[in-house]
Amino acid sequence: MNALNAVIAELLAAIALVALASLVGWIAAAEPGANLMAFSALAYLFLRQLWMVLRLMRWARSPLGTPTPSARGAWGVIFDVLHRRGRLASAEREQATLELDRFRRAAEALPDGVLILDGHRAIEWMNLQAEACLGLKTSVDTGSRITHLLREPEFLAYLDDPDHRGLPLELRTQRNPGRSLQIQAAPFAAGRTLLLVRDVTQLQKLATMRRDFVANVSHELKTPLTVTLGFVETALDALEDTPPAEIAQYLHTAAEQAHRMQRLIDDLLTLSSLETDSPPPLEDPVDVAALLADIGGEIDALSAGRHRIRLENQGPQGLLGSARELRSAFANLAGNAVRYSPQGTEIVLRWGAENSGGARFSVQDGGIGIAAQHLPRLTERFYRVDRGRSREAGGTGLGLAIVKHVLERHQAVLQIESELGQGSRFSAVFPPHRIQS
Ligand code: ADP
Repeated sequence: MNALNAVIAELLAAIALVALASLVGWIAAAEPGANLMAFSALAYLFLRQLWMVLRLMRWARSPLGTPTPSARGAWGVIFDVLHRRGRLASAEREQATLELDRFRRAAEALPDGVLILDGHRAIEWMNLQAEACLGLKTSVDTGSRITHLLREPEFLAYLDDPDHRGLPLELRTQRNPGRSLQIQAAPFAAGRTLLLVRDVTQLQKLATMRRDFVANVSHELKTPLTVTLGFVETALDALEDTPPAEIAQYLHTAAEQAHRMQRLIDDLLTLSSLETDSPPPLEDPVDVAALLADIGGEIDALSAGRHRIRLENQGPQGLLGSARELRSAFANLAGNAVRYSPQGTEIVLRWGAENSGGARFSVQDGGIGIAAQHLPRLTERFYRVDRGRSREAGGTGLGLAIVKHVLERHQAVLQIESELGQGSRFSAVFPPHRIQS
């Protein structure tokens, strides 16, 4: 039944009721009875409408989702319409809640911190990253003004200056010491501000490392280049009145420095290829016995009889990985043992199985040893315990950085045990999946 029909039907029913009541009253008791019956019918109709209005009001005050009262006629149509509207509204509400929930989860999953500030810069909402970056807590700080929580003048100036908006601010805050943050403010609806916070500590560290690296390389190359140029120019200037033996000495020193530069460039190229090449394969077996014998021969030549060199091989036959890279790492460790051990000491190259199912390559020397405070930094590029000694020994300062890289690419770890004046043991420990059974 549509609304108009229902109203007409209700009206007709009321007229019919009043007319019927009047007729009954008139037949029963002539005119006064007809009036009384008509009045009673009208009163009934009025009370019924009042009752329906009361039911409607009671329903309107009931909790969301309460079913509408049931009724016939025009009120039935009204309750029906309200019921359908209610269902539609609750479906829309559910949908909106779902979407809001999805949005919140997406904002929680963002790797960056997100805060929503109201028109007074009070925090309305923030995600977990924002809490972590800024040292805040949702349960405590929601509703507080951000300007009361982050009091750094540059941050306050940034928020106050509309020209800054859209550009990020680099900030170090007392609330999270030691971290570098990048903050970006974006105004949006009704005076609100969206604050994006990113922790850029690691990025800044990398940028510093890159700058230091370039400075170090330039410095490392500059010294031998200056020495080479100096000797070549001196030789050229005094070519006629300098004895050939002296000229030969100059050229010899220049060649030595050129070799040093060449070694440095070779190591730099090795490092660069380790950083860019794809990881070593798991299918290529490297014959460790042959590799050990090779490296033994190499350091024998380097030692020129100054050390006793011993090879011990009780480990598995095959190691899965890159023969070229492993060779370079093992040779670096063995070479260091020769260069940092005095004449007459023993150097042992050992390959053995580990209880874990992995295997260990180690180089043990009875050399100068390393004080404990240097151990954590040894694999940093250009880190040397004794710069002069390393140079004298022909070191580039990159050997252990190369070793660390190679081992990481083989999921292996470098272990260093050393005691000042007693000697050192450098071990490469490989996981079981790198061992050929
Ligand atoms: P370098 O080319 O200077 O040898 P490395 O990266 O190979 O560079 O080694 C870094 C530093 O670690 C060396 O300068 C040296 O001080 C120390 N070192 C490395 N191996 C040994 C060792 N077997 N005994 C004592 N010191 C060592």
